[in-house]
Amino acid sequence: MTQPTIETRSFQAQTKKLLDLMIHSIYSQKDVFLRELISNASDAIDKVRFEALTNPELATDGKIKLEPGKDGRTLTISDNGIGMTYEEVIEHIGTIAQSGSEAYAEKLKELGKDVSAPDLIGQFGVGFYSAFIVSDEVTLETCKAGEADGVRWHSKGDGEYTIERMPAKPHGTRVTLHLRAQTPAAADEEALPDTDSDFSDPWTLRKTVKKYSDFIAYPIVMDVEKHEVERDAEGKVVPDGKTETKLVEETLNSQKALWTRTVSDVTAEEHNEFYKHLTHDWHAPQQTLHFHVEGMQEFTALLYVPEKAPMDLYAREQKRGLQLYIKRVFIGAEVKELIPEYFRFVRGLIDSSDLPLNVSREVVQQDAVVARIKKTVTTKLIHFFKDLLAKDRPAYEKLWAEYGAAIKEAFHYDPAVKDKIADILLVKTTKGEGWSTLAEVAERMKEGQSALYYLTGEKFEVLREAPQLEVFAKKDVEVILLGEAVDEIVVGTLEKYHDKELKSAARGELDGLPESAEDKVKQDEQAGKYAGLLTKLKSLLAEDLADVRLTTRLTDSAACLVADEGGMSPQMERIFAQMGQAVPEQKRILELNPDHAVIDAMYQLAERPGTDDRLKDFGEMLIDQALVAEGSPLKHPAQFAKRVTDAMARAAIL
Ligand code: ADP
Repeated sequence: MTQPTIETRSFQAQTKKLLDLMIHSIYSQKDVFLRELISNASDAIDKVRFEALTNPELATDGKIKLEPGKDGRTLTISDNGIGMTYEEVIEHIGTIAQSGSEAYAEKLKELGKDVSAPDLIGQFGVGFYSAFIVSDEVTLETCKAGEADGVRWHSKGDGEYTIERMPAKPHGTRVTLHLRAQTPAAADEEALPDTDSDFSDPWTLRKTVKKYSDFIAYPIVMDVEKHEVERDAEGKVVPDGKTETKLVEETLNSQKALWTRTVSDVTAEEHNEFYKHLTHDWHAPQQTLHFHVEGMQEFTALLYVPEKAPMDLYAREQKRGLQLYIKRVFIGAEVKELIPEYFRFVRGLIDSSDLPLNVSREVVQQDAVVARIKKTVTTKLIHFFKDLLAKDRPAYEKLWAEYGAAIKEAFHYDPAVKDKIADILLVKTTKGEGWSTLAEVAERMKEGQSALYYLTGEKFEVLREAPQLEVFAKKDVEVILLGEAVDEIVVGTLEKYHDKELKSAARGELDGLPESAEDKVKQDEQAGKYAGLLTKLKSLLAEDLADVRLTTRLTDSAACLVADEGGMSPQMERIFAQMGQAVPEQKRILELNPDHAVIDAMYQLAERPGTDDRLKDFGEMLIDQALVAEGSPLKHPAQFAKRVTDAMARAAIL
């Protein structure tokens, strides 16, 4: 070994500033330093194990050890990882790798005591230096695997560090922190004393490891004292016997990074346990999606669909997002940038190998890697749901019943995926009670039918009886019934399913339905007969209506109201109103059933010379009853009730 010489070196000006900030400005989340140091240790073990692939002498069962000093003033974190050479220590530990801009350091300084540790670490990539959040002196001793010498580095975080060679030991690194005396309250009257920041206390260490590093793949151990009382041959405690104190090595982390394992190796039982730990849910998840992505991006996703939707799934302030890990190190919970809004019911985590460990919240928000992860997760989930739909219909229907309304929000938030979501959409229709896919409805289209018909409304029960459906029933054409508020957005965005146009059953002219030649002739005759009635009604009801026309839409009812082709449906109007947006009143079209006796009676009235007052009355009653039938509110309900009873009285007299 070369003669030991101690070299003293200075940090760059900027590093000094950061250290100063670290020491004086951080009051919250001080415990992240442990996460950083454990993560460095874990990385170093990863590296040595990688080396061992070609150099079996280095084969190591990785282990990270925490040693709180008895005097309460020190904490040592050691690993049997790859270690560092003299030059590497200068390069990696002597300088701050991704030093941020000086201007930003100034800004952080201005913020003073409000700076949080993750912000600072995130901005500057100062993982190792976070040791100075809790220490006033740090010693690092390290031996690179295969090197003749070891290295000792020491700093008080005051602008200088010393570095010297030392006799080689087994490879690995040992970081000893001389813990700062705890006086945060004295420095600032308002600051609450931080009861959790005694990092020589085994309890605090245990808790911090659990919080941030539970899933580190190597055991994080600590020697703890176990007191054993004396027992007799039968195992009974001997009264006034001796108590023996033993040191026992306790493993603090569960190492259950089960997501890093081969997908097929993780049992359903293990998933259940992990899911419960992750979500605090009592039920097992209804679906599990676990995958590794390699190549251009590298990450692992472990995603779960809970059995039941949370009560607040549709509340704006609902917590959402996935946990983010970077190389098995916990970075944050509820990172909403990782998953689209409409899949917010999915719980789980992403473990990325592409992101730097020091990524901050702000960085996550704009990061291209994160955006790519979100895109891949979205695609994978859509595929997963599509697959489930094909392979296990009952399971998918259950999932849809629980989360379908949220998934449909994709049409609003992410129109780019609309066609893919359309494939996994389930709908109710006029045929039967169960769910259908759009493909199935398209498959059942009648000959001569050119569009897929739908009807939107507030409730399935009301929709099923809507007069607009009469002609469809007569012609045996299936209509999709959409009873949720979001459905207006779905049909508005989707417009087509593959080559099939989506057409409202309650809007515009009715075309695209199979029609016979006889029907056509009859329609022409009726058009001639009722032309006069229509003209009169149009002028009498011009205030309320855009138009009055005959329809083939109805068979039993006398009249219905439809929106103009380009007009807004009453549901859409209501959505806008709920969002607080004023919509000008939309005049609708009154459609009359020329086969109905009432229309014929009105025709008789209209044919009489002069204008009979009853014609206007009847017209208004038709409008009102059409509104009632579709479940819309009436403008003047009392007037309607009176007209009905008057008509009943007259009918009784006759
Ligand atoms: P980061 O981990 O983000 O690169 P750090 O400041 O935490 O930044 O560490 C700088 C570098 O120092 C690491 O990339 C690694 O090369 C080296 N290093 C830190 N801790 C250890 C350790 N326990 N064992 C080996 N190398 C280490």
